[in-house]
Amino acid sequence: MRPLHEPVYVTAVFRQAGETELSDRGFDLKYSREENPTVRVLEKSVSLLEGGRDALAFNSGMGAISCLYLSQLSAGSEVVVPMEAYGTTVQLAEELGKFGVRVKLAYPSAEAIAEAIGENTSLVLLETVTNPTLKVIDVPEVIKRAREVGAKVVVDNTFSPTVFHPLKAGADGVVHSLTKYIAGHNDVLGGAIVLGSLDVSGLWHWRRRLGSIIQPLDAWLVVRGMKTLEVRFERLSRNALAVAEFLSEHPRVREVHYPGLKEDPHHETARRLFERPLYGGVVSFKHAGGKGGAVGFLRSLRKIFPSPSLGGVESIASYPVMSAAKTMPPERRELLGITDDLVRLSIGIEDVDELIEDIDRALGR
Ligand code: PLP
Repeated sequence: MRPLHEPVYVTAVFRQAGETELSDRGFDLKYSREENPTVRVLEKSVSLLEGGRDALAFNSGMGAISCLYLSQLSAGSEVVVPMEAYGTTVQLAEELGKFGVRVKLAYPSAEAIAEAIGENTSLVLLETVTNPTLKVIDVPEVIKRAREVGAKVVVDNTFSPTVFHPLKAGADGVVHSLTKYIAGHNDVLGGAIVLGSLDVSGLWHWRRRLGSIIQPLDAWLVVRGMKTLEVRFERLSRNALAVAEFLSEHPRVREVHYPGLKEDPHHETARRLFERPLYGGVVSFKHAGGKGGAVGFLRSLRKIFPSPSLGGVESIASYPVMSAAKTMPPERRELLGITDDLVRLSIGIEDVDELIEDIDRALGR
C-alpha cells in the first residue's frame, strides 16, 4: 500500500546503518537541521515550479535571504539592492556593512539598477515587482549589465510565481518567501532559493550553520498549499484586476498602482515579462482624502482584515507607512511615492462583488 501523499518525516535524527547516509544530492542525511525527506519534497516542488536545478527550503523568506547574503558576500564585496525591496532585505544588506560588505541601494528601475552595478559588484538582488508601489523591473535588462561585470543576479520572485521564470531570463538564482502566494493560506512561514548557476554547497552549509531549514510539518503545509497555487493565483489575479478597475473609477481615489491595468506605467513591462496576463493580488491606491481618508478606510473595512503580509486566500489591507515602509527614511519614501494616503490591498479568492462592496462602503462617497 502506497500513500497518495508524501508522508511527513517528523524526526530530528535518522538511524545510521554503518556508513553515514547520503541524501539524494550527496549531503549527510543524519540530522534534520541538515536534510529531511519532507523538506526535500518541498524543494523539488519549488525547483520544478521555477525550472531550477535544485532548491533549498528555509524557515522563512528572510532565512533564505540571510543564507544567500552569507554564502555570496564577504568583506570587500559589493551588493546592489533596489531601495524599494522588502524592508528587512534592505536593512539586512545595510547591516552587513559592519562585516565590510558594501551596499548600493538603487532606485527600482532597470536603468538605475544597471547604472549602480560596477566592476566590484558581486551580487544583485532584484524583486520582480516592488512593494508597495508595484513597479515592475525589467529583469533581463539588469541581467545583461550584470553579465558584463560577472555579478550574480538573484531574483526575489515572491510576487509573480507561475507567470514569470527568472532562471529562463538568465538569473543565477530565485528567492521566494513561500509564506506568500506559494503556501497561500496565511498559516505558515517558509522561504526557498532555487538554483540556476548558484552553487548549492555554500548555501547548504550556511543553512546548516544558522539552523534555518524549514520544519517538516511546515514544509508539508507549504507543499499542500502549492497544489492549488495555479488556481488560486489565477482567481486572485482576476479579482485584483476587478478591484483595481473599480478603484480607478472611484471619486475618493486619486491614484491606483496595479500592473494589470492597461494605463499603469508598468503594464507594458509586465506584459512582456509575464507568460500569462495574471498580475497577482496586490493593488495599492492613494486615498483622495489624504492620511485621514486612508486611515478611515482601513478602519471601516468589514470583510478585509487590516494585517501585514500578502498572497493568501483571504483579502487583507495594510498601511505601508506604518508597516512595509515604516523604517524607511522619509526622503526615500517620498522618492518612491510611498505617501501617507497610500493603502495596500492583498486581494484573495473571495467573491469579488462582496470585496468591491466592502471597499466601496469603506471609501464612502
Ligand atoms: N521577499 C518579499 C518580496 C517579501 O514580501 C517578504 C515578506 O513580506 C520577504 C521576502 C520575507 O519573507 P518572510 O516574511 O517569509 O521572511
